Amino acid sequence: MRAGQAADVMVGMLAAMPLTPETSPTRAEPPPRGRGDACPGALRLHEADDGALARVRLPAGLLTTHQAAALARAAEELGDGRLDLTSRGNVQLRGLGSDCGGALADRLRGAGLLPSDRHERARNVVASPLAGLDGGGYADVQRWARRLDELLCTEPDTASLSGRFLFAVDDGRGDVAALDADVTLIARVGGDAVLRVGGAEGDGAAACRGLLVRAEDAPGAAVLAALEFLAAVRDSGTRAWRVRELPAPYAVSARRLAGRLAEAGITATALASPCPLGTGNAEAARPVPGLVSGPEGRCALSVLAPLGRLTAEQWRLLTATAAREGAGELRVTPWRGVVIPGVSAASGRELVAALADAGLVTDRNSPWYGVGACTGRPGCAKSLADVRADAGQAARAVRTVPGAAAHALPVYWSGCERRCGHPGGRWVDVLATGDGYRVAARGTGAPETERAVWAVTAEQAADAVAAARGTT
Ligand code: SF4
Repeated sequence: MRAGQAADVMVGMLAAMPLTPETSPTRAEPPPRGRGDACPGALRLHEADDGALARVRLPAGLLTTHQAAALARAAEELGDGRLDLTSRGNVQLRGLGSDCGGALADRLRGAGLLPSDRHERARNVVASPLAGLDGGGYADVQRWARRLDELLCTEPDTASLSGRFLFAVDDGRGDVAALDADVTLIARVGGDAVLRVGGAEGDGAAACRGLLVRAEDAPGAAVLAALEFLAAVRDSGTRAWRVRELPAPYAVSARRLAGRLAEAGITATALASPCPLGTGNAEAARPVPGLVSGPEGRCALSVLAPLGRLTAEQWRLLTATAAREGAGELRVTPWRGVVIPGVSAASGRELVAALADAGLVTDRNSPWYGVGACTGRPGCAKSLADVRADAGQAARAVRTVPGAAAHALPVYWSGCERRCGHPGGRWVDVLATGDGYRVAARGTGAPETERAVWAVTAEQAADAVAAARGTT
């Protein structure tokens, strides 16, 4: 697109137009909750316009190939034949019959995907997907995440955590530590771990404070931190779902948490200064699509699902690849991708090509790279547009400068102002308005960019999005 072309497509550039505020309550504004958290789960289906929806929690995104195959069968035989990957590394099945809850639960239990019915919505754990695979990071935190999940499922009180409460287990590279989790573990050089309660400080990527614990104590310390949060919720008389929703006088304090840890025999010391995380660039720390080199001639395959959705056929291809060529395991990432560990370097390129042929994103220069969308019409009654169709059309339409997509801001298309599943950090917000879209950069910190808002028709959206992302 020519430099001035953005102006051609701009129906109105509404300088200084206020962006819709984020809706999460702040500490100054405790959440008025008249009902429990309605987050969907595998046992609590959500009735959407395209049928019932089930969200299957996958702690650390981990799946055996046996479990992955069970999900594909459930999607095909009970749902609409597709699998959505979520921003927490979980899988959603859509288009389910309203009476299939029992059959789905039986299948998930049979596959080992429901270790505790009572805890199924509390098992929100993300972990660095490349931990132990590429030589980065300071610990194989996938093991920590598995232990954390076991402890969560055996502690009765954690069943009352909201379905929105999130644990993050970062191997020190700084990828999932930037996801604004409620309880975060971060591996440090030397083998210990930082335990942090609440979101990352500053821009979420560069620094953190917290308590220092031994690596072997880290999973247990994370569960105790969640119990400390639940105690604060009770003391405050609120129904806070997230740590950031606690009123300030009831914030989880390092001193009280250290006391609870000590009672459990866990020694914790307060960090005197921020601890550096990886490169300080959370986006750069995530797995890029393609072949990821590791030690001893082993590689991992990293792919993204276009707009976060896979057909059962694409999912089966990933499963078969993991079974035949990999280590028999898949890792669903919080960036709507899948990592397959353990393939040989010799066969890696051929495997990547086969996955690309099947429509998966295997290259950062793909026009689908960095593009996301909510469910939109027809699946969501709140949506003002078929955002997935429009996002797909825009991705196909724009000719990007070679190499530009790899460095462009992520873009997210939303059918209404809730913006379900939008990315954090810096991103381009494409919001349906009923007669088109409003396109704006968010989180850039540059006032002139934050105020630049394009109001465009669906046909004009592609160019406005490209201009806002910087891909043309
Ligand atoms: S952002 Fe709005 S339209 Fe999109 S899935 Fe959420 S509620 Fe529905």
